[in-house]
Amino acid sequence: MTTPEADGRWTDAARSYLSRTTPVVPPIYQCTTFELDDASYRDIAEGGGFGETWYTRFGNPTVAYAADAVARLEGGEAAVMTSSGMGAIATTLLSLCRAGDRVVAARELYGDTRDLLVRDLPSLGVRVDFVATADLEQWEAALAAGPAAVAYAETLSNPQLRVLDIPRVAELAHRHGARLVVDNTFASAFTVQPLALGADVVVHSATKFLNGHSDVVAGAVVADASTVREVQRRVVTFGTCLDPHAAFLVARALHTYELRLARQAEAAARIARWLDASQEVTEVRYPGLASHPDAAVAERLWRPGRRGAMVAFVVRGDNDRAARFLRALNVAREATSLGGVETLISAPHNSSQFSYTPAELDLAGIKPGMVRLSVGIEPVDELVADLDQALKRTAAPSVGRQI
Ligand SMILES: *Cc1c(COP(=O)(O)O)cnc(C)c1O
Repeated sequence: MTTPEADGRWTDAARSYLSRTTPVVPPIYQCTTFELDDASYRDIAEGGGFGETWYTRFGNPTVAYAADAVARLEGGEAAVMTSSGMGAIATTLLSLCRAGDRVVAARELYGDTRDLLVRDLPSLGVRVDFVATADLEQWEAALAAGPAAVAYAETLSNPQLRVLDIPRVAELAHRHGARLVVDNTFASAFTVQPLALGADVVVHSATKFLNGHSDVVAGAVVADASTVREVQRRVVTFGTCLDPHAAFLVARALHTYELRLARQAEAAARIARWLDASQEVTEVRYPGLASHPDAAVAERLWRPGRRGAMVAFVVRGDNDRAARFLRALNVAREATSLGGVETLISAPHNSSQFSYTPAELDLAGIKPGMVRLSVGIEPVDELVADLDQALKRTAAPSVGRQI
């Protein structure tokens, strides 16, 4: 005998409340399974209903709310949320590639994506050829060399901030029968919407700008409804689904997405100009500076005036000086990851590209002394003053102990 209070059933009062009210923000459906009512599981599955709500690995109202919000941001027909950005990337590539297929990929990639392409896909019989993100001749030659299932790149590469010419690479990919999959984590939808420019699939680490508060690991895949269904089926079989509570946090963060991104981008533009004028900085990479090698591509493709919140720069000296500079900062914090409301800074050779050999770092354009800044929402004057004091304090050649 169970006591009535503990039998886990809906009370009439609670059920009636639920049916009469529409909450202004999505409730957290922190629940694994849903009562079947009239339908059978076979009906739901045969209706293509992977997103239907009967078990949370297949679908969940809070997760669906977040997915719809991300789809709207990217101007896509549909989206599926995943357990992480790597969950989005791996699930997408394993959905679109079979043994014997070929992938043509940009060589400037997030370190774990590169690992997936260099180690895991080849072990499953998928060949991967690499090209430079911004070199259209290399894309053309590699795609023309034989059939390819997928062309893969980051719309704004990490950490060199090269800009992908999305329409041209999409056109080349389509001409040779490949689908263009792009990682829009760094630029983000505020800056550029790749689907409108010809990309077939957009993947995101929602951990970064989409969530923006450094408290959730999540991913998203945005595409046409039929491609999303293909990916969603693998989210179900690979188990790369997002937890409802994490989805709630992403959905909540998206309510301030435009505000955050506008503020972060404005501050980044100002900081990039300031760094550009500094004697202690030998190179600044920001797509809003005329000196950026892809400034014209960003001008043509990206939304007017929007150039993102990522700045890469090279401090005078070597990696050792860069390390001392990072430790001398008080407002910007040295940590991997990006896209949060707090300004984060890191040295790529010591974070996202730690697995690269010196030769690979060189080939990827990661110079000694290079650091990567993700600009947050702190007062921009405080950020500039902080960079200034840390550059000054570490300007002299290091003598004795490190700071
Ligand atoms: C962080 C990141 C990823 C991986 O995302 P996770 O959410 O950490 O799995 C993929 N691509 C880029 C460009 C990233 O910055």
